[in-house]
Amino acid sequence: MPCASTRSAGVECRGPQYELTTFGCVSSVADVAAIRTPVGHSTHQVLIVDDDDDARETLAVLLRAHGFEVASAWSAEDALRHFREGFRPCIAILDLRMPGVDGWGLYDRMSEDPDLARVPVIIVSGYFVEMARAAQRSACHFLLKPADPAAVVAAVEQHCALAGEQQSAR
Ligand SMILES: [Zn+2]
Repeated sequence: MPCASTRSAGVECRGPQYELTTFGCVSSVADVAAIRTPVGHSTHQVLIVDDDDDARETLAVLLRAHGFEVASAWSAEDALRHFREGFRPCIAILDLRMPGVDGWGLYDRMSEDPDLARVPVIIVSGYFVEMARAAQRSACHFLLKPADPAAVVAAVEQHCALAGEQQSAR
């Protein structure tokens, strides 16, 4: 459920899975708050990739409080290590500006791997220009930093609920 503010940003949404969510989508958060315990997959895992310790930990605590299993990576390389070890989260939340391989670099590496390309990505960035880049790629959400933690949780919950609906419809 894309909110009106993203529509007015002039970013084209491609397909039903493409949604841009910006900070402050209160109505969207309220809608998704009703979705609990999505069917389809019982354990929901999230990978947070952010070089900012505070941002990463704050979000991890919040997602765990909402019942998600959370893995944290402080760099793209650290995220790739998780993937090499076989971790396949429901969704990955990527910060863009990171030392070494940045968020887009990680995104591209994930896209090149057929297995990792299936992991949906939420891009979190403080730079509005990145929203257009997210639109050109297939990131499922874009959140403008500083992202409202509730909006991040809502985006993850929405994804897991939709994935559950798709699985149960088969
Ligand atoms: Zn899930």
